[in-house]
Amino acid sequence: MTSARAEALIVSPPEDSAAYAGAVRIVETLRRSGHEAYLVGGCVRDLVMGSVPDDYDIVTSARPQEVMDLFERTVPVGAAFGVVLVVAGAKGYQVATYRSDGPYADGRHPVGITYGGVHEDVRRRDFTINGLLMDPGTGRVIDLVGGLGDIRNRRVKTIGDPRLRFAEDRLRMLRAVRFAATLDFFLDPEAVAAIREEAPLIRGISAERIREELTKILTRRGLRRGMELMMETGLLEEILPEVAALSGVGQPPDYHPEGDVWEHTLRMLDLMPQHAGPAWEATLAWAVLLHDVGKAVTLHRDERGVHFYGHDRIGARMAQEIMGRLRFSNAETEAVLDLIANHMRFIHVREMKTTTLKRFLRMPRFDLHLKLHLLDCLGSHGNLENYEYCLSMLREMPPETLSPPRLLTGMDLQDMGFLPGPLFKEILGAVEEAQLEGRVSTAEEARRFVLEHFGDQRRTPP
Ligand code: ATP
Ligand code: MG
Repeated sequence: MTSARAEALIVSPPEDSAAYAGAVRIVETLRRSGHEAYLVGGCVRDLVMGSVPDDYDIVTSARPQEVMDLFERTVPVGAAFGVVLVVAGAKGYQVATYRSDGPYADGRHPVGITYGGVHEDVRRRDFTINGLLMDPGTGRVIDLVGGLGDIRNRRVKTIGDPRLRFAEDRLRMLRAVRFAATLDFFLDPEAVAAIREEAPLIRGISAERIREELTKILTRRGLRRGMELMMETGLLEEILPEVAALSGVGQPPDYHPEGDVWEHTLRMLDLMPQHAGPAWEATLAWAVLLHDVGKAVTLHRDERGVHFYGHDRIGARMAQEIMGRLRFSNAETEAVLDLIANHMRFIHVREMKTTTLKRFLRMPRFDLHLKLHLLDCLGSHGNLENYEYCLSMLREMPPETLSPPRLLTGMDLQDMGFLPGPLFKEILGAVEEAQLEGRVSTAEEARRFVLEHFGDQRRTPP
C-alpha cells in the first residue's frame, strides 16, 4: 500500500495501572525475542483521548505458536484468526498476529486470513480511530491511517470506502453508531449515506452480535444519541421496528408535555447516567427502551382523549418477542418483562391496600422498578409524588415487615387436619395476607385464624 502520511504523537501512560504495565511486559518480551509488537486499536484511541482503557490489545509479527511458546499462560482464543490470549496477572491480553483478512463471502466472516505486515493489519481494522498503534516503551503513537486527525476532528470514519467496509462485515454499521455515540463524535457523512443504503443487510448478522452492540450502546454514555443515530440511519427500523414505530405516536400533553412516545423514551435514556447511577444496568436500559413499546399498537382515541389501555401488558408481550428474537437469556428476558408489566402500577401506589403495597414493594429488584418509574416521571410530567411515596413507605417498612417470616407451613396444616392440595395455597396466602395486614403475628394466632376461616374444610380429625 502507499504509506499514508505518518503522524506521530507521544502520549503518557495511565498512572498506577497494573493492566498497562502487564501490556508493556508482553510487548517487551515479544521484542526481546526479535519480533515487532505494538499496542493497537481501542486502547490506543482511549490513551490518546486521555481516558483509561478497559483492556489492551497487542499486535505482533510473531506467529501464534511463537506467542504460545513465549508465555506461560495462553489460550488460543481465535486460532483461525491468529489471536492468542495471554494471561498476565489478573488480566487477559489479546495478542494478534499481523494479518489481512481474505474476502468476506457472507458479509460476516472473512473466508480466510493471510499473515502479513503491520500495514495490512491496520488497514483491515474498521475505523481510523481504531487503527492506531503505540509503542508502549516510548509512548509514541504511530498513525498509518489518519486516526489522529479524526480523533482531533471527532470523526468516525471507516478505513477506506465505507460501502466496501460495511459490505465485508455488516456489524461495522452498528459499531460506527456505537463509537459515534459513546465517544460523542460525529459520523462521517459518507458512512451515514452508506449505512442508510445498506441498513437492511444488518439482518444477516447474528442476533447475538447485534444484541451485544446494542447493549453496549445502551449502557454507555451518549445512549440517547446512539438511539437517535440508529433511527436516522434506518438501523432501528431493521432491528427494532416496534421501537421505531414509537416515533409520531402522540400522547396527552398534560401527562406528556415532552411530545411523542419516541421523544419520551429518548429523554428517559438521556437521564439514565444521571439518575440511575453511574453504572446503570443493561436490564434497566432495555426496560427503558421497551417499556412503552405497546403504545403504538394500543393507541385509542375517544371523546375523552388519547388512551393506551393495556399498553403495559401488551408491551411486555411484544418485548418478549423482541428479546426472543435477539436471543436474550430467559433470566434477562423475564427481568425486563417484569419491569415493563409493572411500570403502570406506580400510578396506584397511594390507593393500594397494605397487603398489595407490601407485595409490590418487595418484588425482586424493586430498586430497578423504582428507577424505571423515576425515569418515566422525569422524562415526562416530572411529578414525583408516587416515587416519593414509595421511598417513604420503604423507610417506614423495614424488610422484616415487608417480608415477615412464615408463620405456618404445609406440614402445620397437615397436623391440623387439612389434606394437601390446592387448598393449602389458598390458606397460606390468606395467613400471609392477615400477617401483612398486622392481624396475626404469631404461629398461635395464625392457627386460630385458619380454624376460624377454614376449619370446616378439615378432612381428618386433628
Ligand atoms: P471497546 O472495547 O471500547 O468496545 P474497541 O475499539 O477496543 O472498543 P473491540 O471490539 O474491543 O473495540 O475491538 C478491538 C479492535 O479490533 C478495534 O479497535 C478494531 O481495531 C478491531 N476490530 C474490532 N471489531 C472489528 C470489526 N468488526 N471490523 C474490523 N476491525 C475490528
Ligand atoms: Mg476493546
